[in-house]
Amino acid sequence: MAAIVRNVVNWSAQQGHSSSQIQRDMCEVCGKKPKFVERGHKHPYCSRTCAGKTSGGIGKASSPTTTTHLTVNTASNTCLLTGCNYDAVFQGFCDPVHAMEAVKLGQIDGCDKCHDQPVSTNARPSRGSSTGKLCAGCDRALRGGTQLKELGSRDSKFREVRKQLIGNWNTRNEGLPTVDKIYQVLVPRDQLSRYASYRKTLTNSREIRTYHASLMLCDLGTKGPCLCERKGCGICSVVRSSFKTFAFEEEYEQGRFGQGIYTFVNPGLADKEATTSTTSPYRVMIACDVVVSAEQEVPDDDSVFVASSDAINSAYIVMYSM
Ligand SMILES: [Zn+2]
Ligand SMILES: [Zn+2]
Ligand SMILES: [Zn+2]
Ligand SMILES: [Zn+2]
Repeated sequence: MAAIVRNVVNWSAQQGHSSSQIQRDMCEVCGKKPKFVERGHKHPYCSRTCAGKTSGGIGKASSPTTTTHLTVNTASNTCLLTGCNYDAVFQGFCDPVHAMEAVKLGQIDGCDKCHDQPVSTNARPSRGSSTGKLCAGCDRALRGGTQLKELGSRDSKFREVRKQLIGNWNTRNEGLPTVDKIYQVLVPRDQLSRYASYRKTLTNSREIRTYHASLMLCDLGTKGPCLCERKGCGICSVVRSSFKTFAFEEEYEQGRFGQGIYTFVNPGLADKEATTSTTSPYRVMIACDVVVSAEQEVPDDDSVFVASSDAINSAYIVMYSM
């Protein structure tokens, strides 16, 4: 990994004096493909693959080419709260707290149902009211989309998830994590039925717990159970789409068995792929339910492969620290 970082440094050093716009718009890792752009914000990399090569990720990368603009915006799409210059990644705001503040200050209309969050421009009028509007969360709840629910640390589910994560954590010479927070993922009904149908196609199927970590661009866990809308954010993309979309809008992962979804029985191995934003105190991973056939090998020292998103569900999002 050190070699890759050195290459990145050398590459940028070589390019340092010829600062044509084209070169600056190329991925800072491969230099071959353009940087990924979403809503006016330019990521330093072309893809999740290149982002993953930055040795330990955004939070701890030592490469000087790593962006410092992950939250501070230089483009036009800033938080709608007057005076805030951060990137708008949550319903036009930088985070749910500023969204609620804008509602409180009367800068934007509040949701008819929860009264806390701003009305969403995409939401349809609420039932029983011709003029009423809902926030994105309440609208998603109405339409049956993915939702998150925070578990208290005394909740039996919290203790069970933590016990399993720590029990399966198997890395040499490294400490065990501290589990800080857990969000339960409430999977949409249509995904649950796809999962059930898929399971029926397998003979002697069994359900196992695996873990998935990814590039994380938001500070999930610090502002309540809300997924962000950044296309580059691996955890939020995966949970929202039920493993149909990964960071940078990729539709699958690439691995030793080809295109599909790779997770780990050993959370210590998943942790190697956990990268966090500089504003988050947590590392984050998804605890998944995976259905496999009786014959499929489930190695403790390598990844578990499934070819279809119907074979896997997000069960919990775990915020932890090392
Ligand atoms: Zn690249
Ligand atoms: Zn803001
Ligand atoms: Zn609402
Ligand atoms: Zn996110």
